[in-house]
Amino acid sequence: MTQTQQTRSTCPYCGVGCGVIIESDGTQITGVRGDPEHPANFGRLCTKGSTLHLTAAEPVTRGSRLLQPMLRLQRGATPQPIDWTRALDTAAGRIADVVERHGPDAVGFYLSGQLLTEDYYVFNKLAKGLLGTNNVDTNSRLCMSSAVAGYKKTLGADAPPCSYEDFAHADTVFISGSNTAWAHPILFRRLEDARAARPGQRWIVVDVRRTETAETADLFLQIHPGTDVALYHGMLHVMLAEGLTDARYIGAHTTGFEALRETVSGWTPARAAEVCGIAEADLIQAARWFAQADRPGGATLSLYCQGLNQSAAGTDKNAALINLHLATGQIGREGAGPFSLTGQPNAMGGREVGGLSNLLSAHRDLADPAHRAEVAALWGLPDVPATPGRSAVEMFEAAADGEIRLLWIACTNPAQSMPDQAMVRRALERAEFVIVQEAFATTATVAHADLLLPATTWGEKIGSVTNSERRISRVRPAVAAPGQARHDWQIAIDVARRLEDRLPERLHGQATLFPYADAESIWNEHRESTRGRDLDITGLSWTHLEQHGPQQWPMPEGALAGRTRLYEDGVFPTADGRARFAAAAFRPVAEPVDAPYPFGLVSGRLRDQWHGMSRTGTLGRLFGHVPEPVVEMNAADLGALGLADGDLVEVRSRRGSLVLAAQASEGIAPRQASIPMHWGEEVLGGTAADGTPRLGVNGLTLPTFCPGSKQPELKHCAVSIAKA
Ligand code: SF4
Repeated sequence: MTQTQQTRSTCPYCGVGCGVIIESDGTQITGVRGDPEHPANFGRLCTKGSTLHLTAAEPVTRGSRLLQPMLRLQRGATPQPIDWTRALDTAAGRIADVVERHGPDAVGFYLSGQLLTEDYYVFNKLAKGLLGTNNVDTNSRLCMSSAVAGYKKTLGADAPPCSYEDFAHADTVFISGSNTAWAHPILFRRLEDARAARPGQRWIVVDVRRTETAETADLFLQIHPGTDVALYHGMLHVMLAEGLTDARYIGAHTTGFEALRETVSGWTPARAAEVCGIAEADLIQAARWFAQADRPGGATLSLYCQGLNQSAAGTDKNAALINLHLATGQIGREGAGPFSLTGQPNAMGGREVGGLSNLLSAHRDLADPAHRAEVAALWGLPDVPATPGRSAVEMFEAAADGEIRLLWIACTNPAQSMPDQAMVRRALERAEFVIVQEAFATTATVAHADLLLPATTWGEKIGSVTNSERRISRVRPAVAAPGQARHDWQIAIDVARRLEDRLPERLHGQATLFPYADAESIWNEHRESTRGRDLDITGLSWTHLEQHGPQQWPMPEGALAGRTRLYEDGVFPTADGRARFAAAAFRPVAEPVDAPYPFGLVSGRLRDQWHGMSRTGTLGRLFGHVPEPVVEMNAADLGALGLADGDLVEVRSRRGSLVLAAQASEGIAPRQASIPMHWGEEVLGGTAADGTPRLGVNGLTLPTFCPGSKQPELKHCAVSIAKA
C-alpha cells in the first residue's frame, strides 16, 4: 500500500496566506488540509483552499495545463510543440534582437502577485540588472499599489503595521471597501471569533454595496462610489469639533496637521454625508466610535482592500484613512492601526524584491540615486537604469502604440484582468513577440502568445511568499512538475544565461549575474539585499523557517523572531522620524454617470472563485455558490426598465459591451449595478450589433489610474443598461 506523504506549504489564492498540508502518494496530490500550526489560519481553510487538491487532480486539470513549450510561427497559426532548448533560444534571441534594434526599453515584463519571491527576484535582476530596463510591472499594480503609495506618503514605508492577532484586541473594527467575508474568508472567521470573545467589539462597515460583510456590521455606511475621502474628512471634522483627536500624539509623532485641519474645516458632517449619500448621524456615530469617544484608551483597527485601492484617487483614499489613525493615536499599539488586506498571495513578497516599475530590491526607490547605487553594488554592476519603467496600464498602452515591441508575461492573464480590454488586445496584437509563461493552457492571454513556456504551479513550486501581515512562509513541492513544466525562476535564469552570451558587455567582468543553484540561493541573495532596510530579514534563513515556522519581517541578524507590530515607539521611517498627514482634496470618480451612461458599475470578487478562474474554474462544485455571471441591480431600477429577474440585458460603457442576465438585489443602491470580476470573453464574449467584440467585464472598465499609485479605477465606470 502506498504511504501518504505530507508536505507543508501555503495556499496560492489570497493574501491571508493560510498554511496547508498537502497529502500525496508521491506522484499525485490526493488531499489537502489546513496546517494547525500556521499562525495565519491555525488549521482552517476556506472553500477555495480546502478544494485545492481537487483543482490539482489530474483528471480535472487534464487539458487545462500547459505541459510543453509551444511556438507560433506566424500570427493566426496554431502553436506547435517545441523542445526547451529551442524555446529558450527563441526567447533569448527575440529579446536580444529587440534590444539591439530598439534598446532595452522596448521590452516589457508583466509579472504576477502569484509568483513566488524567488521568481520575482530573478525576473527583476534580469530586466533591471542584465537588460537595463525598468519595464517590470505586475498585476500587483491592479491590487495593492494604492495601499503602498498611501503607506509611503504618510508612514514613510510600504509596511502594514498590524498583525492578525490585533483583531482580538480591537474595540472598534472599521472595515472599508472590503467584503472580507468573501474575499478573505479565514480572516473573517478570526474576526468573528474576536467579536465573540470580546463582547462590545463593534464593527463599522463602509461599502458601496450591502455585502455579506456589511450585513454583520453594527453600523453600515452605504456610500456613493468614490466618496471615501469625503467620508474620512467629514469624520475628522467631527473629531476636531468634539475634541476627540489626540493632541499629544499629533504633537510628538507627526507633521502637517495644520494643513489637514484647514482641508477638513469645510467638510462639515452635513456636507460630507450629503456627498457620500448617507445619514449625517451615521457619519457622526462612525467618527465617535473610531475615536473611542466613549471608551478612552480603546483600540481601533481599520481593514481595507480594493474598494480603496482600485481607484483613480486610491492613494488619497488610503492616506485619508491613515490620517484618522494618526489624528487619534490609533497606531503602534495592540488592536490599533491601519491594516491593508492584500489581495494576492505574494503581492507583498513581490514588492520586497522591487517587483514594480518604480521600485528596486528591498523597498528601494528607483527615483533615489543612492538606492540605485546600492542595488548596482549588490549586483556588481556600475549602475541600474534611472529611467522610470512603465506601470501596468502604461506598459500595455506603450505596446499598443508600438513603443514596447516584446512582452514577456508570466503567471497572469492580462487579456482578462486588465482594464480596457480593447486596448490590451491591440497591445497583444501589435507587439512583435509575446512570450507567455503559464501553468494553464486555457487563459485568454495564452491565445495571444507567440511563445508559450510551461510553468509549475501550486503543489509543485518551491520558494517563499509573504502574506498581508508581513509573514514569510515557505512554499514546498509535494509532487514533481507535470510534463515539461519548469519553475518560473528556472525559466527566467535559463533565458538570462543565454542573454548573457548575447550581451557580454552587461556582465562587467562577472561570469554570470545568475549564479543560483536552487531557490534557496536566490532567497539568500534577496535576504542580503534587505540588510539595514525597513524589511531587514538578515536574521531569517530557510533553516530557521524550517525549524520555527513562518516569521514576520523585519527580523534582522541576531533577532530570534519577527516583529508583530510596527511603530510602537512612535518613530516612523521618514527623514525626521515623524509620520506625515496628507491633506488631499476630494476628487469624484474618474467617469461619473451621465445621461447616456446613467448607472455606476462596480465589479467585485465572489466567495468561491479566484481571478480569471484558471484554477477554480476547473471544479464544478465551486460553481455551487454562484453558477453564472449576472448583473445585480436595485429592484426599482429593474422595474423602471421594464425588466424581470433573469432577463438578458446589454451593459454598455464607452469602451465596450456585454450581455448577461439581470438580477434584483437589495444590496445594490439605486442607479448602480454590480458584476463579478471573474468571467471573461470565454463566457461573456460575442459580437455587439455594431460589430465590436465583447471582451468580458473588463471590456467595460476604464484605464484611468491614480496619479500617485498608477493603480487603475477597476472598481467603477459609467454604463447604460437596456433589455438585450
Ligand atoms: Fe486560501 Fe485565502 Fe482561503 Fe486562506 S482565506 S484558504 S489563503 S483562499
